[in-house]
Amino acid sequence: MISAEFENEIIAGHPITDYRFFTTDQLCFSDNIRTICRTECPMYGHSYSCPPAVGTKEECEERCLGFSSGFIFSTIAEVNDIANLEETLATKPEHEDVTRLIRDRFAQEFGEVLALSADACSICDECAYPDAPCRHPDRMLPCIESHTIVVTDIAEKLGMEFFYGANVVTWFSIILFNE
Ligand code: SF4
Repeated sequence: MISAEFENEIIAGHPITDYRFFTTDQLCFSDNIRTICRTECPMYGHSYSCPPAVGTKEECEERCLGFSSGFIFSTIAEVNDIANLEETLATKPEHEDVTRLIRDRFAQEFGEVLALSADACSICDECAYPDAPCRHPDRMLPCIESHTIVVTDIAEKLGMEFFYGANVVTWFSIILFNE
């Protein structure tokens, strides 16, 4: 059971735009996402935060379902032109900083957690995968889609807001934990 005190501390202490708690049986895992990763994403096979490094679809699903509960939240960032990928991606580190702080607070409260964030890890200019270990395993956040989670499905199910304006980027993260 999440205490109101803990919830208030998380919400008041971080620049979160929207959030929900859920149980992991509400998550939808999709084979199709893995196909899209493999056939359309340039990061496939080039990052520890993405497949195949994160494991098979079954392994990822099992890892997620090893937790009973989840916390999904969004942050937003205003850009001049949302079609400018470089400008849009430049707003991600701030979201990741928030995600790490929240992850660490959940870990303090609940023990082991799994934090998943948006898009591939971009901490290093060039990922060490597969030739050397990850340089920042404590900071690296696997991509939500790498674990085959359909983020739009869970966000819609929970009635979360996606659209905040024409040039506003909405970033999502998920923290899985055991209550
Ligand atoms: S921290 Fe660096 S080595 Fe680790 S996944 Fe991210 S980019 Fe790759």
